[in-house]
This record gives sequence, C-alpha cells and structure tokens, in this order.
Amino acid sequence: MATTSTPRRTKIIFTLGPASQSEEMLEKLILAGADVARLNMAHGNHDWTRAVIRRIRAVSQKVGREIAIMMDIKGPEIRTGDVAAPIELKVGEIFDFTVKPGDRESSEEIRSVNVNYQDLVNDIHIGDIVLVDSGLMRFEVLDKKDNHIRCKVLTPGALSSRRHINLPGVKVNLPSFTEKDRLDTLVGIDEGIDFVALSFVREAKDIVQLRAFLKEHKSHAKIIAKIEDQTAIANLDAIIKETDSLMVARGDLGIECPLEDLPVIQRRAVKSCLQHGKPVIIATHTLESMITSPVPTRAEITDVANAVYEKADCVMLSGETTVGKYPLECVQTLDKIARRIEQEGPFEVPDPKSIAGDKIKVLKSAVLLANQVEDSALLTFTRLGNMAGGLAALRPAKAKIFAMTNTLETLRQLRLMRSVEPFLLPLESDPNLSIEKAMELLSREGHVKTGDKLIVATDILTSDHLVDSVQLRTIR
Ligand code: PEP
Repeated sequence: MATTSTPRRTKIIFTLGPASQSEEMLEKLILAGADVARLNMAHGNHDWTRAVIRRIRAVSQKVGREIAIMMDIKGPEIRTGDVAAPIELKVGEIFDFTVKPGDRESSEEIRSVNVNYQDLVNDIHIGDIVLVDSGLMRFEVLDKKDNHIRCKVLTPGALSSRRHINLPGVKVNLPSFTEKDRLDTLVGIDEGIDFVALSFVREAKDIVQLRAFLKEHKSHAKIIAKIEDQTAIANLDAIIKETDSLMVARGDLGIECPLEDLPVIQRRAVKSCLQHGKPVIIATHTLESMITSPVPTRAEITDVANAVYEKADCVMLSGETTVGKYPLECVQTLDKIARRIEQEGPFEVPDPKSIAGDKIKVLKSAVLLANQVEDSALLTFTRLGNMAGGLAALRPAKAKIFAMTNTLETLRQLRLMRSVEPFLLPLESDPNLSIEKAMELLSREGHVKTGDKLIVATDILTSDHLVDSVQLRTIR
C-alpha cells in the first residue's frame, strides 16, 4: 500500500467515470493511494450517483482505506440550444445568439442559435468576446438588439447542440446555486458525501448560501470553492476566507482569463490559501496526454511538480480517470512525482489566519519540533479536523501528520489535507490513554517502529477541561 516507506504529502483526487468506476478499478486506485473521488454532476444522474457512492464506500471498507467523496455540482452554466445539424461557421461570418427563439425579423438571413441565458443581451457589451465549446470557437459582439446579440466569427468551427458558452470578463447574472445543484446536493447529502465543490463561485456570498443550505439539511460536508472566472479572481481573498477549501479550476479559468495569467493566478491562489490556512486543489490537465498515452509529457511532469513545489494540498485528475486508457498509471505517476518533489528544499509558510490566539503558537511549536527532530512524525487528536488542519496549514517540512479522529466523516475530510494521514480511534476522556492507544495502533499497523519519535500535539475535550500540549514521545 502507498502509505509505507516514504510518505506522500500531496493528496490525489480522481474523477469518476467509465474508466474508473468499476469495483476492480476502484480497488486498484484506492490501494495506489488515491485520496478523494470526485463525482462531476455535469454528467452523472441520480441513480448513477447513488450507485457509485455506495460502491466507493463498499470498496473502501473492503480494502480498509476510507477515501473521501467530493460532489462537484455544475453551478450556473450558459449553453447553446439544440440545432438540427452542426452549423459550419467560417471566419468573418455574421452570426446571432438569441435569447428568444424565432423572435428576429423574418427577413433575416443571418444564421442563429438560441442561448439559455435570458440576460445575455443586457449583460454583454459591444466588443466583448463570446467563446463556444470550451473556447474552441470565438465570436466578437458587433451589435445587440432586444432579443439577440450579433457577432462576427473570429475562430471558425462546427457548432453543434448544447455547447458550453464562456463570456470572459462579463459579470454573469445567474444564480450560483441552481435548482439542479439543489437536487444533486440533496442526493449527495442523503448518501453522505464529504465535500461539495461549488462551480463558478463568484463571490463569498455564494459560499454563505451553500453553507446555509447544507446546515438546513444537517450536512457536515465541507465546501470547496471552484474559482473559474475573472469575477472570482477579483474576489479571491474574500472567497478563500469564507470557504473551507479552494479548487483552482484551470479548465474554465484558461478560457475565462488570458492563458498567460493562469500560472500567476495559480500561484496567487495557493499563496493566499496558505495565508488563510485553507486546503487548495490544483485541477485540470495535470496529466492530460495520459488519456491516451501510458506516459506523461515532460511538460506535464513539470506542471505537477510545480504544484507540489508550491505546496498545494491536492492535485486532481479529470478526463485522465473518467475516460482515459490509463487511470491507474495516472495515479501512480502523480504519486511518484509528488514523493520525489516533496524531498526538495525548505519552504517558508505564513502563519495561517484561520487559527486564532495561542493555538497557533502551540501548533507552531509542534511543527518546529518536528522539523528539528530527524525522522519524527506529528500525532494529533481531532474531532472536527481543526487541529490536523492547523498542523497541515503550517506545512511541516518532512514529518507526516498522524491524525486520530473518532468519526468516519472527519477521517474522510482529512484526506484533502496535505501531509495528513487519518485514523479512526475512539477518543478517551483521559488524553494520555488516547496517546497510548494511538501509538499502539500506529505500531500495530507498521506506520512507526520502536525508537521512532512522535511529536504529540493534543487538544482534546475531556469531561471537564481542554488540554493543550506539545510532547516528544518515543515508540517503545
Ligand atoms: C475546470 O474547469 O478546471 C474544472 C475542474 O471544472 P469542470 O470540470 O467542472 O468544468
């Protein structure tokens, strides 16, 4: 199993699809060290959702390694309507996007397609760019009328039914949490998902709204804010402050923002997440060529390495594991690159703002000690994940973080955090007893051996008081 020998600190997320959803493949991926399974609700229906969640839980149980499940809800999406046959568009052709089908003057010879965004005409400006089919076709807005916008084709292509539309720089006036998202999330809550990833988050209040919904439905799922457009970048700090964690969704970001800005945005997002002590995921095209090839390109290796150098918590696979030919090899490749790069150089991290008061000083002392005691590991006890999250946010140089928790829910959510290896352990009212039991468990399962050093950072609720301490223990 991937947890022995050199530990890997960077976590691996894979997206479920035909290439990865069988019991056999799930077993292989989980044993290869995948930490989080992502369900992309742009594609899955509710029967599929329920079936795969149950299958992941069953396989996790069978192999003895619980992974987390992320439901990635679609959010507001602008699409073209149906067309009878693909419309071949040439450079310079004039073309209309209409919000009310059949509502143009009858004399019009100009071809058109309907769009599902009623406020398109109000919100777009002359000179703006419309991108269709994930940026493959480009149009420039020349004029707008009551019910349509008139455009010139800049990049040609064949326009087929229900293609995705991006409007770079346009403040899209659509609800952040749609009716479909609501229904999908309810199914996810019912099946006990661990994370909800909210697509196209534009401002902090989008997260507040989802949080209220989760609370209303008694879900403890954590929120992942997906940043995908320029509005999100403008509100980045406020979004990070409000969310539980962040996904740098490079697919849509690369369409909505100038391509050359992507690395700058990624670096800024990771840095800001470190400052706020929030986990951060680098998503999309990590090993894109491995959809069809058993080995990655050199550029992909370096891209993944950069995410690890930046100290992101997770790297994510999409098409590579949904439809790719080599899902297992992709997880193994990420695992290998992460382990190698994690051995490189020291790295300064800011004090995470998410941990207040003396707590940060206690955690910092624990991490400082772990950094100084050769080959040591950190041990902590965490009911809701906060202690483990605090230690992870401080990015210990080498030590892994053994996190003992008494609930499966927290255990799975800890899968997202860098360096954290979660374990299920009933927490005793006597903290000392918890430490003894944790050390026993770690020895029994081969994670530590006699003579190994553990830096114990405890904060557990006993019957009548809280205990805060940092201890250096040796396995006997
Ligand atoms: C992305 O755009 O990078 C992304 C992860 O979102 P989705 O796959 O949902 O479009």
